[in-house]
Amino acid sequence: LTDRLSNAFKHLKSKGKLSESDIDGTIREIRRALLDADVALDVVRSFTGRVRERALGAEVSQALNPAQQVVKIVNEELTSILGQGVDRPLNFAKNPPTVIMLAGLQGAGKTTLAGKLGYWLKDAGHTPLLVAADLQRPNAVTQLQVVGERAGVPVFAPEKGVQSDGGDAVSAPGETTGDPVQVARDSIALAHTKLYDTVIIDTAGRLGVDEVLMKQARDIRDAVNPDEILFVIDAMIGQDAVQTARAFDEGVDFTGVVLSKLDGDARGGAALSVASVTGKPILFASTGEGLKDFEVFHPDRMASRILDMGDILTLIEQAQRQFDEEEARKAAAKMSEGTFGLDDFLDQLQQVRKLGSMKSLLGMIPGMAQHRKELEQFDEKEIDRTEAIIRSMTPQERRDPKIIDGSRRARIAYGAGTTVSAVNGLLQRFEQAAKMMKRMSNNAGMGGIPGFGG
Ligand code: GDP
Ligand code: MG
Repeated sequence: LTDRLSNAFKHLKSKGKLSESDIDGTIREIRRALLDADVALDVVRSFTGRVRERALGAEVSQALNPAQQVVKIVNEELTSILGQGVDRPLNFAKNPPTVIMLAGLQGAGKTTLAGKLGYWLKDAGHTPLLVAADLQRPNAVTQLQVVGERAGVPVFAPEKGVQSDGGDAVSAPGETTGDPVQVARDSIALAHTKLYDTVIIDTAGRLGVDEVLMKQARDIRDAVNPDEILFVIDAMIGQDAVQTARAFDEGVDFTGVVLSKLDGDARGGAALSVASVTGKPILFASTGEGLKDFEVFHPDRMASRILDMGDILTLIEQAQRQFDEEEARKAAAKMSEGTFGLDDFLDQLQQVRKLGSMKSLLGMIPGMAQHRKELEQFDEKEIDRTEAIIRSMTPQERRDPKIIDGSRRARIAYGAGTTVSAVNGLLQRFEQAAKMMKRMSNNAGMGGIPGFGG
């Protein structure tokens, strides 16, 4: 997906005005990119429709160039679909216990999530209880018990009662039974007496949507009246995401979504499909098999991830406020022509200073990971020293650093109150930086950023 979108945006690079055909061309590319990422067709249609409308509409910004505008709109739409742009916290009951029920297909990651959620809640000072209400497979109860033990969270299961990680088993109250609805009910009673403040109910799932199991999930729901019903969905599920999400939405009317296996493939297709089809918020993301591979879901980050833009919008906004765009454009042109001199470098340093940390600025640029080594060579404190050195150079030296020989280096060092090796260091780094910028300006995704690309 991300490559496709990078391509889509590349087409917008450095065009003066956004025409209808420009937009449509780009929309086509975005559409293809989203379909590639297994976003459902309906979702893609309505999404691109909205983006197109907005791009053609009156919201034409004076400050942003066309590429930046479309990027901004796409990002805003994505963020809004993925959760109105805000993180949705877990809904806790006014009177404990808070009951959280997990639903989803078999293999979606429910049992794993139960452990992660328990661990996370315990870490936050809660007293969670895991409940084995998946009695469909013989191993399911044992699996949850193993998970609970690893998380250090007690597990309530039929017959075996409650086992804590310390091994002090607590008997289940009343009859234990193979009936998952009864197990769920009993677990709430136990939570009241033992003061567990959160009850996480693991339920059964089938490989396909199954009416019998859906009814079972509904019965469990009706018996315990959960504060949250979390629909767990494998992010790799692809086009089936829509159908599955719809079935569970109708079946149990879940309150939130957890995306699992986001570590597998960077695609955000399922997230976009589920969120737009059900309108339900995504609460968490599961990112691995370990207990800690779990995070609160951030719509804005997911949008960026889908677009592979890093924090490009923040960058654009900052840059727009403070950069002298015209200067930056000239510098960018020089960079790609390879005529970028130390005098330009000095100008840029002063611009960059306004933006705060140079490292964090550069870190915002997508694709910079591969330049991390070079990035490390930038040191904020060095900007002062660098400036002093450049100021000690003649204009000719600044324009054409190649002429700076040994005796010039000594003179410059003396003038800047530093050593010849410091001057050597700067010239070396400048050369590297110029090379890097030249290379980056030829790369995709850099186009819209003032000062960093053609
Ligand atoms: P359930 O049938 O819904 O309870 O699914 P499980 O919790 O048993 O998970 C099914 C498989 O997916 C197991 O092998 C898990 O280890 C694995 N799994 C669950 N969540 C994740 C995740 O976020 N990332 C990865 N890589 N694997 C996961
Ligand atoms: Mg399970």
